[in-house]
Amino acid sequence: MSYYAIVSLYLSRILNVQLRINIGENQGETKMLEELKEQVIKTARQAQRDGLCKHKSGNFSSRDKETGYVVITPSGVDRELLTVDDMVVIDLDANVIECKSGLRPSSETLMHLKIYGLRPEVNSICHTHSLYATVFAVLNKPIPALVYEMMVMNCKQGRIPVAPYGRPGTTALADSVTDACLEADTFLLQGHGAVAVDAGPIEDAYLKACYIEEFAELYQHALTINGGKEPPAFPAEELQAWAYPKEIHLLNQ
Ligand SMILES: [Zn+2]
Repeated sequence: MSYYAIVSLYLSRILNVQLRINIGENQGETKMLEELKEQVIKTARQAQRDGLCKHKSGNFSSRDKETGYVVITPSGVDRELLTVDDMVVIDLDANVIECKSGLRPSSETLMHLKIYGLRPEVNSICHTHSLYATVFAVLNKPIPALVYEMMVMNCKQGRIPVAPYGRPGTTALADSVTDACLEADTFLLQGHGAVAVDAGPIEDAYLKACYIEEFAELYQHALTINGGKEPPAFPAEELQAWAYPKEIHLLNQ
């Protein structure tokens, strides 16, 4: 074998090994984010099937705890047709890191990034235009704690607050959510829709999005039957006083 043939063989082996390492590393990284993408798609589809958002409205995101990147649904795609390649990976400075289909992230991405910036413990966000919640968003009317279950929403003032109007897709909308998202895990956007956030996986934020709609419907019925008068509500202190019953002796105690 000639000198050049030996060098060539040697180099090709090095390059092959290097190539395998790089592909392996990339596959590992992609797989991690792809699981997150699958979770977000699953929740987005569920929201559509449950009627919480229609006509391509609403958007959903999750933060990857290791990289800090956010996986978010793209703009204007039917959720039933969404694939993993359509999902957008973006950093907190709004730089798109990856989108295999080349789609743009949701136009309400700035609002999601604002919330992740303000609430470092939050890892998932669901934004919907669900009907009853949007009715109260239109009326700029916070939803009081009519039922005790509202204590799971981390509502510091015993209500689902309303963030003041900001034009969708603008930094004004992103900035408008500051007070509301610091007050509660669930809030309305004036004249627009609803937002739910959670520290856990997106299924947990979605559960809160379902609760917003349920509480809004309940409030609408209560107001109607009560002749438009405010129904009684739990004060914030009562909601915050909840604790698991100490009379139940758990296995690990
Ligand atoms: Zn919206």
